[in-house]
Amino acid sequence: MTKHSRPWGYHAPEQSAQVDWELHPDTIAIRGGLARTGFGETGEALFMNSGFTYDSAEQAAASFRDDEEHFLYSRFANPTVAMFEQRLAALEGAEAAMATSTGMSAMFASVASMVKQGDRVVASLNMFSSCYVVLCEILPQWGIETVLVDDNSEAAWADALKEPTKLVFIETPSNPLLGLIDIRMVSDLAHKVGATVIVDNVMASPVLQKPLELGADVIMYSATKHIDGQGRVLGGAVCGSRDYIKNTLMPFIRHTGPSMSSFNAWVLLKSLETLTMRVERMSSNAQAVAEALEAHSAIERVYYPGLKSHPDYELAQRQMKSGGSTVAFKLKGDQSQVFKFMDALQVIDISNNIGDSKSLITHPTTTTHRRLTPEVREQMGITESTVRLSVGLESADDLVRDLTQALARL
Ligand SMILES: *Cc1c(COP(=O)(O)O)cnc(C)c1O
Repeated sequence: MTKHSRPWGYHAPEQSAQVDWELHPDTIAIRGGLARTGFGETGEALFMNSGFTYDSAEQAAASFRDDEEHFLYSRFANPTVAMFEQRLAALEGAEAAMATSTGMSAMFASVASMVKQGDRVVASLNMFSSCYVVLCEILPQWGIETVLVDDNSEAAWADALKEPTKLVFIETPSNPLLGLIDIRMVSDLAHKVGATVIVDNVMASPVLQKPLELGADVIMYSATKHIDGQGRVLGGAVCGSRDYIKNTLMPFIRHTGPSMSSFNAWVLLKSLETLTMRVERMSSNAQAVAEALEAHSAIERVYYPGLKSHPDYELAQRQMKSGGSTVAFKLKGDQSQVFKFMDALQVIDISNNIGDSKSLITHPTTTTHRRLTPEVREQMGITESTVRLSVGLESADDLVRDLTQALARL
């Protein structure tokens, strides 16, 4: 066997399901991006390697010139990660996607690859707390201004988008209180002043909401949440046009290094196969839980886009397929009552993650949103009585029963 022998070959990473009709997302989730080696393995191969070899110095040079398609180094691209990227992009209906190590590195790269000193960014006030820190604490250190919009009215967004703006960043539904932003309305206003619209689509997942179809330009994911959804790996991804991914995002990631591990991509490829089924079930469970909580006398208020009482119920019906897997609520009572209730749960776990097959509950003020000042929390509507519940795949009956027995202890 010579140094150069490649007995097994590698099929070019073309989508294996090449058909002359448009495939349903359920099929894409199973077959999109699949690139088999010469072994013909059923499941996706795990390429757990950092580097790649070339047949000749000429081939290495041609590969670096981009004249030949060849993997160079796993910080830039890796066959298993590429399969995940292609499958996710196909599922999203995006031209391209790029995977990252975490949701936050996806968020940071999608923003930092675009802005420079003097730029203006407009964002929704209600967002994941680390995204808030990036936009409102880190970017200003670099001479970038972030303006926050506190509600979903057209007047408020039109006012914020009167002047030239580089970027609009919105999270909808928001974490933890499930506030909604009208993606089409904001995208139309943003495009008039030349801004690129990035949507943090983590809470809805690609199953329930398609921001690109509503006019947004870029989508970011924490793959840690619903995409894995089984408490195993961290990951992130950015989806967008081929031009944005290849010419803006890719050079930034290539040189700053927040790449996804191929092992995580391999786990996440399998996760995509069951994503639709899981999210639909979690969301129908969440609807049942939200309805039961709303009818309970110990609960002051329930925040869930699938309830008619949600201020943006109509928008949710238009923009999302269903209400999603997260329910927030306010208990009648202070923090000690909330803690007593959480400690009394027998099935639901106390944990700050979301989108998991196991139902998880958290008290945002003392955990996920502790980092924000009391003033910002108040502006966001998060109080010591607020609880966030990520509804999992258990039987909805058991979840309602667990919540009811814990509430009865108060
Ligand atoms: C979790 C989360 C993130 C960050 O993702 P990580 O994978 O934890 O880095 C960003 N946005 C939202 C809405 C999230 O829930």
